[in-house]
Amino acid sequence: MNAPVLRPAPATASLPLADWPELRFDNSYARLPPEFYMRLAPTPLPAPRLVAVSHETARLLGLDEARLSSPEFAECFIGNRLPAGADPLAAVYAGHQFGVWAGRLGDGRALLLGEIAGPTGNWEVQLKGAGRTPYSRGADGRAVLRSSIREFLCSEAMHALGVPSTRALAIVASDAPVFRETVETAAVVTRLSPSFVRFGTFEYFYAADRPDLLRVLADYVIGRFYPELAQAANPYLALLGEVMRRTARLVARWQSLGFCHGVMNTDNMSVLGLTIDYGPFGFLDGFDANHICNHSDDSGRYSYAMQPRIAEWNCWCLGQALMPLIAERGGSAEDAQAVLGGWQAEFGPALEAALRAKLGLAERHDDDAALLDALFERLQADRVDFTLFFRYLADVRRTGPDGATACRDLVIDRAAFDAWLARYRARLVLEARPDAERAIAMKRVNPKYVLRNHLAETAIRQAREGDFSEVRRLLKVLEHPYDDQPQSQSYAALPPDWAAGLEVSCSS
Ligand code: AMP
Ligand code: MG
Repeated sequence: MNAPVLRPAPATASLPLADWPELRFDNSYARLPPEFYMRLAPTPLPAPRLVAVSHETARLLGLDEARLSSPEFAECFIGNRLPAGADPLAAVYAGHQFGVWAGRLGDGRALLLGEIAGPTGNWEVQLKGAGRTPYSRGADGRAVLRSSIREFLCSEAMHALGVPSTRALAIVASDAPVFRETVETAAVVTRLSPSFVRFGTFEYFYAADRPDLLRVLADYVIGRFYPELAQAANPYLALLGEVMRRTARLVARWQSLGFCHGVMNTDNMSVLGLTIDYGPFGFLDGFDANHICNHSDDSGRYSYAMQPRIAEWNCWCLGQALMPLIAERGGSAEDAQAVLGGWQAEFGPALEAALRAKLGLAERHDDDAALLDALFERLQADRVDFTLFFRYLADVRRTGPDGATACRDLVIDRAAFDAWLARYRARLVLEARPDAERAIAMKRVNPKYVLRNHLAETAIRQAREGDFSEVRRLLKVLEHPYDDQPQSQSYAALPPDWAAGLEVSCSS
């Protein structure tokens, strides 16, 4: 078909502009063909109130500190006013949900305002929960305060842990009711990423049988985020390999921190290898390889132990979607399979290196794998607190008093633990590194503070009563997860008994 393509004007006209001349957007995604998105303005919410703002993220955008508490800020970042140059749009994508092809999905409640050239780079800014879009599929286009607080805190917590992640600027709340299992209230979380393109964006154009648009998308992603791949013999094959390797390294980081994503559908997989779309995520408390953090995940497809295999499977979906382009450049299915076959070679060493660092082993010895296996057997048998165990392990000494009291207090079968400890200490003796030096290195990779469900829940309960101070306090603690923070000792405690009953589902 060669009919002229209709290009609606930016939706900007339908909302008042912000009185904030320094906040100026561009939107390169809006310059992609119209099949990539729908332009539309956010749906306003009444009486916006700022719940929390990340000052660190604000600095990425070069935002003036004084603005962060202004009414204008809340109005802009709940979607009631538009900053200059914003060209809001909902992007289309598709995806495999729980292993099943789900067809067209798209931003059902997120709107991309555009990008800001900050002092350290370009950031796309998205409002999540800003109202219905053509991709809402009958849902309300809103996000509740509860899930917005979780996404906001975890995005920043993951960044502080050193895990690639989308970022969060702010949460702005409204009293507007939102109907889930009960009546809740609306909030908008402002997310930042260099790009929100997902595996599912590629799958959408593949399934639509539009290799022309698939090529536009791939060239856009390569041009902006992987420019070095443009020179490869087959840039699309190279793109597949690079995304696969980044994803493998990302999931190795998740495993090493006990992070469970919860909904690793292909529409929730970033082509930049970032953690994206925080929903029913969770950090392991007591170690259980089969832990399922998402109450809606009946089969355990996205359990902790399954995450690497699922991520690999998702890469195969991406590979399939890229196949028309790979073939266009003379690549075969065998070539793509060979690239994807490199998963384990990337993931295995990345995880091994992370675990070695967690144990404070600077050298590589033959028996290390057996030592690790034996440890994980103990952690599993006693459901030992994953975060605290490794943090306390830093205090173990090679010789003399073992320094393992805190670790020992976390286990049930002390004799079995002591047997493992003896092996571990004997292994430490084989390295010249002094205890104190090893302890420092271990505390740089074994966090003291992670966003445990009960911490988020406490902040959420207070926020529902209109008190946002705990959200803000928790953010401050999680911004320095590897530091000992003497005033924040309670945030590193074992979960209280009531936390055992907490359930987190896809409802958000
Ligand atoms: P998720 O599993 O949260 O990544 O969402 C899967 C799909 O459902 C995406 O296309 C979302 O935009 C859409 N979605 C989730 N919740 C809502 C909602 N409340 N309103 C509209 N779309 C939604
Ligand atoms: Mg999603």
